[in-house]
Amino acid sequence: MEKPEAQRHGRVVVLVSAPLQGHMTPVLQLGTILHSRGFSIIVAHTQHNSPNPSNHPEFIFLPISNNLSDNKTSFKNPLDFLLAINNNCKAPLEESLAQMMKVVEDEFATNLFDSTAQQLVTGLHPLRFKDLPLSGFGTFEDSVKLIELLSKLTTSSAVICNTVDYIEHSAVSKLQQHYQVPFFLIGPLHKLASASSTSFVIEDTHCVEWLDKQAPQSVIYVSFGSTITINKKDLTEMAWGLANSDQPFLWVIRPGSVHGSEFAELLPESFEEKVGERGCIVKWAPQKEVLAHGAVGGFWSHCGWNSTLESISEGVPMVCRPYFFDQKVNTRYLSSEWKVDRELEDVLERGEIERAIRRLMVDKQGEEMRQKANNMKSKIEACVLKGGSSYGSLIDLEKFILSFPT
Ligand code: UDP
Repeated sequence: MEKPEAQRHGRVVVLVSAPLQGHMTPVLQLGTILHSRGFSIIVAHTQHNSPNPSNHPEFIFLPISNNLSDNKTSFKNPLDFLLAINNNCKAPLEESLAQMMKVVEDEFATNLFDSTAQQLVTGLHPLRFKDLPLSGFGTFEDSVKLIELLSKLTTSSAVICNTVDYIEHSAVSKLQQHYQVPFFLIGPLHKLASASSTSFVIEDTHCVEWLDKQAPQSVIYVSFGSTITINKKDLTEMAWGLANSDQPFLWVIRPGSVHGSEFAELLPESFEEKVGERGCIVKWAPQKEVLAHGAVGGFWSHCGWNSTLESISEGVPMVCRPYFFDQKVNTRYLSSEWKVDRELEDVLERGEIERAIRRLMVDKQGEEMRQKANNMKSKIEACVLKGGSSYGSLIDLEKFILSFPT
């Protein structure tokens, strides 16, 4: 029975036939049977005695040049003919297949981000194909190489994770089973370490004085971390989205993060006049202090892992604008599992931005997210206290290190 198109399993079978009728017929029949079982079929054949592709529109035909005269009678016997075909076709067949594999891989990579983008990835709940951290690593082959590299974790004798057991227990348990080495979940590290700054850049602490003057939970904090760059159009849309939201905002514009400018020179001319004292723009903020400040009620973030952890540790709900690497994975968890964010998925557009900010900062939905984020904060606080999972894991790590021979 023929499998419907949706059940095709993506495996390709390449059938190679000698250019003789008695060989080609069973090869085409085998192809028809395998195709009906869900395989895609490529039939490689010589240009001499080639099959008629219009009889099998469901197959891909791959003609191979055999560099022989069309007349096999020039050979003393059929065996010489077949040996010559084998010999002459080997290199062109390998070359054609390599080219075809490249096309198939490219199509696979494209399909991954188009037709299957919304589908859940088996075994990786709640991630969809579009959430996988494949973009940002160059070509599809580069992503595969990176995954191979990461899966060589077995060379480590233990793994230390900046996370909390209660939010990643099941994922880490699977990894632990697979790699058979201890995993120590001792996050959030910034809650266990001293508060001294770790920034490469000087933090502008004036923004904390500005925050002191704002109403409780009224400010949206905007920062896209240390690597994201944007163009002038996105900057303009962000600026008008923030201005039109009517909410106070603290915005980090990292020097060099806007294409073609040093800092904030490309902001729209009337922007400053429109927002006045309602907006504060800095080059780099003391982010952990900002998120812990009572005036901050929301965080519009690119959702790097540090920013995500810092935000949920302080009970601050988010507007997520992920770009690449792990940011889409984090966003997926924030929205579908922890339900503490609003995602700005599509093109940055001022109306969408304004609505997303107002939903977070003003609407009932935002209040619900804030309550969920506050629940997370309480649980995370418990994890780092004596008797909590991160605290216990830290003690276990210490014992593990001390067990090494001196
Ligand atoms: N950060 C900061 N001040 C800023 C912006 C970011 O201190 O103005 C810090 C933030 O607290 C976080 C780090 O930079 O610890 C960014 O890391 P994350 O993983 O969120 O994103 P990445 O920079 O790796 O994309």
